[in-house]
Parts: sequence; C-alpha cells; structure tokens
Amino acid sequence: MNCPKCGGLLIPICYGRPSKEGSEKIARGELYLGGCGMEYPNAPTHSCQNFPECSIQVLDYNSDLWKSRDAMRRSLAAKRAGR
Ligand SMILES: [Zn+2]
Repeated sequence: MNCPKCGGLLIPICYGRPSKEGSEKIARGELYLGGCGMEYPNAPTHSCQNFPECSIQVLDYNSDLWKSRDAMRRSLAAKRAGR
C-alpha cells in the first residue's frame, strides 16, 4: 500500500508502549509511533513513511491492525460496563 499523495510507503501505526520488536521496527522506519490514541475509534492505522513532511495518515478498516484494535476496544468497554 502506498501513499496517495507522495507515493511513499504506508507503514502501520503503533499506539501505546511499543514492544522490543516494535521499537526496532520504529528505528528502521517500518512502524510509526502514534502515541496513546488507541481507544479513539477514528485513530488512523497507517501513516505515510514521510510523515510529518507528508500529512497523509489513513484508517484502513480492512486491516488486521484495525480489527485487533477494534476487538481490544470492545473488551475494554465491556470491562468498564461491568464495573
Ligand atoms: Zn505521503
């Protein structure tokens, strides 16, 4: 998948604290650290490799990244509701 604006690679965005493997990917430019916005339903899943020079970040509802985040959000919401 490539950026529609500059043609650069779109890389997955990692939220929260990255794993050791995640940190290595971030150092290699294969993963973008997005902060702690995971619980926001509209948080993007992929970022242009040239971000922030290129402003493109996308939300891909068909990606495994989105599906796992959505599942995590649902389980968190269920936990809160059960309190
Ligand atoms: Zn771009």
